[in-house]
Amino acid sequence: MCESESRAVGLIGNPVAHSLSPAFQQAAFDACELPLRYELWQTETDEIPERLRRIRDGNALGANVTVPHKEAVTTLMDDLSQTALRIGAVNTVIRNGASLIGDNTDAHGFIVPLREGSFEFDSSNAVIVGAGGAARAVVVALLDAGIRSLAILNRNVERARRLATQAGDTRVSAAPLSALGDHVVAARLIVNATSVGWSGEPSPVELSLLERAPRDAIAYDLTYRETAFLTTARAAGLATIDGLPMLVHQGARSFELWTGVNPPVNVMWEAAVLARAAKGD
Ligand code: NDP
Repeated sequence: MCESESRAVGLIGNPVAHSLSPAFQQAAFDACELPLRYELWQTETDEIPERLRRIRDGNALGANVTVPHKEAVTTLMDDLSQTALRIGAVNTVIRNGASLIGDNTDAHGFIVPLREGSFEFDSSNAVIVGAGGAARAVVVALLDAGIRSLAILNRNVERARRLATQAGDTRVSAAPLSALGDHVVAARLIVNATSVGWSGEPSPVELSLLERAPRDAIAYDLTYRETAFLTTARAAGLATIDGLPMLVHQGARSFELWTGVNPPVNVMWEAAVLARAAKGD
């Protein structure tokens, strides 16, 4: 760990080299003429306390946190936002004097594209495939937005049940992946919140079931590249959203929390699109 943290913001995770965040955050800092650098802080689990100490004692504004450290970091913050507490994970660290505040902007990032599309939450049922950290943010976002009902389907159904119980809301239920066909027929939103889109593994669900969804349903994949889930949904006539808008909007909210400046979202979006194309995703 030899990077300077002076007037910097960094990404804490392992790995971090693939991230698009430096491209669009640096574009935003530069567009707003802020003398800040966005750095990659590759961090092993046993290095997290030292990494946070250096932010606390140094001059950095804060950090983003990504896989696999989002949960571990929560216990090391001086304070947590209500959203971070409810999600049980931190993706944004803000330094306030010598205190570190943990927040989570993933729920905000997830919901913005749906709001921009005037999605009718209160009359819609949603299905989430996946029950990991990202799914927890999606559950909080959809409940707060007023979704009518929410079914969490996961390979490890116990994990889905735990998430449903933690949500503490009668609108939320849990089921195994094999129940997708039953749920999809009445769903206006089908979210892939598994990590399968990156690895090229076979789809976690029977994709032909997407053809049973209502014609006005939206298929939303948190992966920010084309996936079999999105391709199949589009072929079935569904509208689709990939994970890039979520990534940019979670980053825009983080930018605002660090700097207090209104984020230049269009600048961030254009830089993210270019960076994604350059990485060939
Ligand atoms: P986690 O590791 O916490 O969870 C992974 C999920 O994927 C679990 O539900 C797991 O099921 C499921 N899964 C993994 N492999 C398989 C498989 N072969 N078959 C069925 N299910 C599988 O990851 P996160 O929740 O943190 O991230 C999930 C995805 O969301 C990632 O692709 C990540 O990049 C993306 N993401 C995107 C963001 C954005 O801004 N666009 C923000 C945050 C995340 P099980 O419990 O059974 O193991």
